[in-house]
Amino acid sequence: MDSYCVFGNPIGHSKSPLIHRLFAEQTGERLTYEAVLAPLDDFSGCARAFFATGKGGNVTVPFKEQAYQLAGSLSARAQRAGAVNTLKKLDDGSLLGDNTDGAGLVRDLIRNAGLTLAGKRILLLGAGGAARGVIEPILAEKPAALVIANRTVEKAEDLARLFADLGPVSASGFDWLEEPVDLIINGTSASLSGDLPPISPSLIQPGHTVCYDMMYGKEMTAFNRWASEHGALRTLDGLGMLVEQAAEAFLLWRGVLPDSAPVLAELRRQLAQG
Ligand code: NDP
Repeated sequence: MDSYCVFGNPIGHSKSPLIHRLFAEQTGERLTYEAVLAPLDDFSGCARAFFATGKGGNVTVPFKEQAYQLAGSLSARAQRAGAVNTLKKLDDGSLLGDNTDGAGLVRDLIRNAGLTLAGKRILLLGAGGAARGVIEPILAEKPAALVIANRTVEKAEDLARLFADLGPVSASGFDWLEEPVDLIINGTSASLSGDLPPISPSLIQPGHTVCYDMMYGKEMTAFNRWASEHGALRTLDGLGMLVEQAAEAFLLWRGVLPDSAPVLAELRRQLAQG
């Protein structure tokens, strides 16, 4: 049976084994999928050992950049993202690196949430690995404008330069922004510690602006609570992004795109139960 895994450290909390097990059941694909705790100082040794027999792996915090270095070849979107969240062993034994995070976010926004990004004013908060991975797929949807705002403004500026040839993207500091936008995507890790990026509530047009936090959890995230209190039309969390990026990885490995809806529903049910 083909074997797959997710590499991370820590990894105990990962939902990926459950998601891929449900995908495999649903599609009738025969595979195993395990969580691998990779040592912080030897990701590549751990990955090489797995791929002696393994066929594919997901990669999570803090190894996405190291996976990018390890891959023998890269998809165009992984090259742009500067990070790899999916590895696939090719027939010649080399590793292909891909990045499915951005496609996962956009599919969640469009397919699951029913949003349109074309012509919209979009604000992306954060300029770390997750933010970088979603810029190209967002710009491919032809928004009217994509503003990247970050605490360290230089990082947002670097990203805006890097993606400038793909669409109307610009950089900003958090406190330079005032005008309402159509969609705010929180790609900072502030929510992990219950913090908020320091942005003005005037960015939310009550009853109109949609807010998306890439983080997810049992409780509403701090960012989504803030957005809701200031009248956001809807708040969405990153659980759908997680399931959709996994579906893209499954497609790359097995050539079959699973139906993510029942898997997302099952994860929501389990999350609510705690
Ligand atoms: P990184 O560490 O690469 O980047 C963190 C970003 O958050 C930086 O831009 C940093 O700013 C900013 N930041 C951190 N703390 C604060 C704060 N208190 N106020 C304002 N900005 C802050 O993290 P990732 O990009 O990998 O992850 C970001 C988030 O996305 C996490 O919550 C993660 O869980 C989520 N995520 C969700 C996924 C999903 O499938 N749903 C997939 C991947 C990530 P600065 O540059 O100034 O340090």
